Amino acid sequence: MMNWHEDFPQLATSHTNGRYTYLDSGATTLKPTRVIDKIKEFYSYDVSNVHRGLHSSSNKATSLYEGARTKVARFLNAYSDEEIIFTRSTTESLNLAAHIIASLGLKSGDEVLLTEMEHHSNIIPWQLLKEKLGLIIKYIPFDDVGELDLNEAQNLITDKTKVLALCHVSNTLGTINDVEALAEMAKDKGAYVVVDAAQSVSILDLDVQALNCDFLAFSGHKLFAPFGIGILWGKKDLLNSSEPFQGGGSMIEQVEKENSTYLPSPQRYEAGTPNVAGAIALGEAIDYVQEIGLKNIYKHELELLEYATEELLKVSDKIKILGTSKTKVNVLSFIVEGVHHSDLSQLLDQQGVAVRAGHHCTQVIFKKLGLSGSIRVSLSLYNEKEDIDYFITCLRKSLEMLV
Ligand code: PMP
Repeated sequence: MMNWHEDFPQLATSHTNGRYTYLDSGATTLKPTRVIDKIKEFYSYDVSNVHRGLHSSSNKATSLYEGARTKVARFLNAYSDEEIIFTRSTTESLNLAAHIIASLGLKSGDEVLLTEMEHHSNIIPWQLLKEKLGLIIKYIPFDDVGELDLNEAQNLITDKTKVLALCHVSNTLGTINDVEALAEMAKDKGAYVVVDAAQSVSILDLDVQALNCDFLAFSGHKLFAPFGIGILWGKKDLLNSSEPFQGGGSMIEQVEKENSTYLPSPQRYEAGTPNVAGAIALGEAIDYVQEIGLKNIYKHELELLEYATEELLKVSDKIKILGTSKTKVNVLSFIVEGVHHSDLSQLLDQQGVAVRAGHHCTQVIFKKLGLSGSIRVSLSLYNEKEDIDYFITCLRKSLEMLV
């Protein structure tokens, strides 16, 4: 099994009571030394604002920032750099996508189709619009194994459907959704397709042209990059036909006392001083995963997931895994009958094991399943079999104390 453990300095830290075992990469990934060094390098030697000064350090910062945009564009197989908007996060990107689509002409009675496995950040922006515009929101259901029901999706997609917004990979069930098939159904009816790639970005090759979508969102911090930097990719003609999101410096062409004109994308959506260091570090993180190869990362995480699933099921027959699709990746959510997930995660934490407990910002899933939450183990390229073995040992110990 390949091993990238040593690239991540946080993993060298010790825990008072055991081996520090980070199994919460679905929440955020750890950062490799080269990304941390890149941030340090920028703040040590290259600080200057972008798109403003004519002096050479501003030019250098601008070319580093724009170079990062080019890396993201190539990473996503975008048609052009102008389609890449730097945001704060997936959440901000999805809110921006909802704003752009609304400004292209949503009206009362129009339908937005989501799935029952969406993260709250792909539900609430649409609910906010629903209240303002009188939209109708519908949900594609998932079945017992955690796969979307494509037949039901076909019934739900009608001439009234104006938007299909869905996650590529579920952060709770781990399912990889068939975005291409669903996008084709939606496109047949002329709907816009929005993909939440927050969980897939560090595992699957993302190709916006192959996915056949109009917008795609992800966060840098789930791709080994820092917090506070995200991406919205959108088709250029849509981006240039919409109203700006925020107004301010850098997004204008001409400002008059009463009215102003705006630059095209991406400047139109990047008002004010952006997170320059974040964008540059995201570019470095993209270089990092591309050097490793996303296919190798996927293979590594799938092998670990299969091993973890087998070992977990040996622990107790009271354990139930949520999401057992054959097309799933690095997420292992489970409950233990009779044990509260918070108690269990606290005991694991005391032994150095970091897992997530709760509803993972997917309350629609848990309400459907009649559960209040689960434990979620989520893996990344730096995890090893030893992490799973240690987690299983700690889980056994914890359950002895709790049951
Ligand atoms: N969508 C999914 C599927 C996610 O897993 C997350 C993060 N847990 C988000 C959206 C939101 O990402 P962020 O908090 O970085 O905006």
